[in-house]
Amino acid sequence: MKKLALATCFNYDASPEFWADAVKAGFTDAEIDTHGAMTDPDDIIAEAASAYEALKAGGLVPSSLHLPFSHYWDVSQNDDAIREEVLCKQEKIIRWMGEHGITYAILHPSAEPIDDSDRPSRIVHSTESIARLGKTAAACGVIVAVEDLPRTCLGNCADELLKIIGDQDSVRICFDVNHLLKESHKDFVAKAGKYIVTTHLSDYDFVDERHWMPGEGDIDWKELRKLLEDVGYEGRWLFEITAEKCAPSFGRAATAKEVADRFCEVIG
Ligand SMILES: [Zn+2]
Repeated sequence: MKKLALATCFNYDASPEFWADAVKAGFTDAEIDTHGAMTDPDDIIAEAASAYEALKAGGLVPSSLHLPFSHYWDVSQNDDAIREEVLCKQEKIIRWMGEHGITYAILHPSAEPIDDSDRPSRIVHSTESIARLGKTAAACGVIVAVEDLPRTCLGNCADELLKIIGDQDSVRICFDVNHLLKESHKDFVAKAGKYIVTTHLSDYDFVDERHWMPGEGDIDWKELRKLLEDVGYEGRWLFEITAEKCAPSFGRAATAKEVADRFCEVIG
């Protein structure tokens, strides 16, 4: 069986008992989500630490943390002074992750919108920022997993994402399967597949990101499974969905067990 994982956005305030139910449903790992509205890394770390404790107490392994993302935290922004400040703060969070054995730091390569005329310089900044965070991560046993993003964000297709991540072993890809709006899963995995170390799974309608439960949108999950298996993917099958909003047809919050059961059903 695949390693099933849940991001804490599924239920931000979940108790250890809630996570223990997820373990019973077959989940083994988790991703700690953080709030981009906070700008003090100590606040982010304090919140992450409490999620870390609740997850561990419930029996899940917190094996990744989603670094904060918002305009403030944008590693591609043009303002050199703020970008430097943000990178120092990201590095502080990455060091905390290293001390707690959390392997994957999920990073957005930019915020949005990105104007066409601005794109080349934003790509340069993002690439430099990621190279720096990769070095910091390598020194503390962490891997920066850069996520493909939708719309005008940087990294909205495999070619651009590959350019941005560079060639360090400590920088890899988090494949968000509901973010591709410009290219098919098949084309993305053909180009970027060997760099994928973790996933963000959810369903969508190919119009915009939706973060729905598998089977609620238009993804061909059997094809997706085969694509990932064919490139030797052995990482976590991690769901980035919110319990209340993950199943439009339900009209209520889904449980971790319902997510796991649905995934098994659609993936074959
Ligand atoms: Zn995602």
